[in-house]
Amino acid sequence: EYAEISLKDIDQVAKSCFPLCMRHLFEKVREDHHLKHGGRMQLGLFLKGVGLKLDDALAFWRAEFTKKVGSERFDKEYAYAIRHNYGKEGKRTDYTPYACQKIISSAPGAGDHHGCPYRHFSEDNLRAALGRMGLSSRAMEDVMDKVRNKHYQLACTFTFEAVYGTSCDAGINHPNQYFEESQKILK
Ligand code: SF4
Repeated sequence: EYAEISLKDIDQVAKSCFPLCMRHLFEKVREDHHLKHGGRMQLGLFLKGVGLKLDDALAFWRAEFTKKVGSERFDKEYAYAIRHNYGKEGKRTDYTPYACQKIISSAPGAGDHHGCPYRHFSEDNLRAALGRMGLSSRAMEDVMDKVRNKHYQLACTFTFEAVYGTSCDAGINHPNQYFEESQKILK
């Protein structure tokens, strides 16, 4: 674990340091107070990887989900899975956050928000999302060019470079690596 993020900073950190896949999931759970299984796994393990402690993770998901499902159902249906991801239930495996390849090759269905936006968003949605990250039209065309050639991780790397104004020679291959590289720059 690299850094440690606390609940009170999480919205700010999501906005400034999360890769687009996680930014999107984070915004969706704040907006819809719900995420389907694939999204809960992808975002939940990422948050664990960035250092969100189990108690904070439970508080985060609880605050959102109970706006929709009530706390009894949250405790019954969702809390177990969160503890499970932290290795506190079942086989007590300490589950690892997903790498880009796994996320890119996932197949989100209707109503799902997991996956890699460079691969799974429509062109219009991707352009809008990149605009919200502050990309210039020049940088956006460079990113879209990589997307058209199916070089999704390079598209993400270009986004990183445009957002932080610095080169990322290693390239992006893991959402948690994106986060860690951004921490190095912002600290
Ligand atoms: Fe996330 Fe990786 Fe896709 Fe970037 S390339 S948005 S880090 S899955």
